Amino acid sequence: MKVGILSGKGGTGKTTVSASLAAVVPSCQYIDCDVEEPNGAIFLKPELKEKSPVKVLVPEIDMTKCNFCGLCAKACQFNAIAVVKDKVLVFPEICHHCGACKIACPNDAILEVERTIGVVEANEDGTFLQGKLDVGEPISIPIINELKKHIKEDRFVILDCPPGASCAVVNSIEGCDYCVLIAEPTPFGLHDIKIAVQLVKNMGIPFGVVLNKASNDNRSIHHFCQSEGIEILMAIPFSKEIAEGYSKGILPVEINDLWNEKFKKLYEKIEGGAHK
Ligand code: SF4
Ligand code: SF4
Repeated sequence: MKVGILSGKGGTGKTTVSASLAAVVPSCQYIDCDVEEPNGAIFLKPELKEKSPVKVLVPEIDMTKCNFCGLCAKACQFNAIAVVKDKVLVFPEICHHCGACKIACPNDAILEVERTIGVVEANEDGTFLQGKLDVGEPISIPIINELKKHIKEDRFVILDCPPGASCAVVNSIEGCDYCVLIAEPTPFGLHDIKIAVQLVKNMGIPFGVVLNKASNDNRSIHHFCQSEGIEILMAIPFSKEIAEGYSKGILPVEINDLWNEKFKKLYEKIEGGAHK
């Protein structure tokens, strides 16, 4: 079973929930798809032994064959290639590796060369994986795709997704059996959760909400979930103890047994929700 943990924005407690679940579910697999800022390892402390670079193919021009016809630039949907007088400029960072320019070139003047954009790291038995996008690289999807190739279909798989509702999130939760949406009860939190709800609804994935830093002073997310018939799976109140633990890389489930039990219940609810 594959479960995507997502939130409308960063800093809502997505990794705390993902890593806490990983800590209480026996024999699960944890995959950190938040490749711009993977921090599940801070909490789960795996021994990362396997490292493989993630490479993509980008065009390289054979100037001996090029006649500057401009068809490659016309074919590129992403403006990653331009023909200026007697030069062909390639912008590899924004290339989406689709190969359209190569197909469009009438002179077979385009080669595809490998370019490293990041790395996938794993522990020895592959129960913990994380992707890391190199600094300055804007396109994370090839790394997420590489991570997802290692999914162990016979396990409970936790995918800690990137924040927001971008293509990278869509890519991460594609194929998931259930999603957990993490929300904070603030005006921005309400706005963000509405977008995340729309996304998972559009993708037809069953889901529930975990409320982080819950407070009786602001029940906007409760009211929203109630009006939309969305299940609140768990509410984590604002707690100095949890915040202090977080700053030291300690999960709530390591602080006391109460949280251990609560996260086990969350796991049961997720399993129940996915099989409804
Ligand atoms: S399509 Fe081929 S020949 Fe035409 S400008 Fe591009 S690389 Fe050169
Ligand atoms: S591979 Fe695709 S995205 Fe990259 S330069 Fe060619 S057409 Fe553009």
